[in-house]
Amino acid sequence: MRVRVTLACTDCKQRNYNTTKNKKNDPDRLEFTKYCKFCKKHTAHKETK
Ligand SMILES: [Zn+2]
Repeated sequence: MRVRVTLACTDCKQRNYNTTKNKKNDPDRLEFTKYCKFCKKHTAHKETK
């Protein structure tokens, strides 16, 4: 049930994180606030395909 997803910074579009999610719990696109080393700050990171 768990699928791999990539999280990309919404500011610079860099793909900074890989994670997994449970499709049942998270059917929609995930969004997390995480540190982006390219922006050197915390930014919103969104799930990409
Ligand atoms: Zn960034």
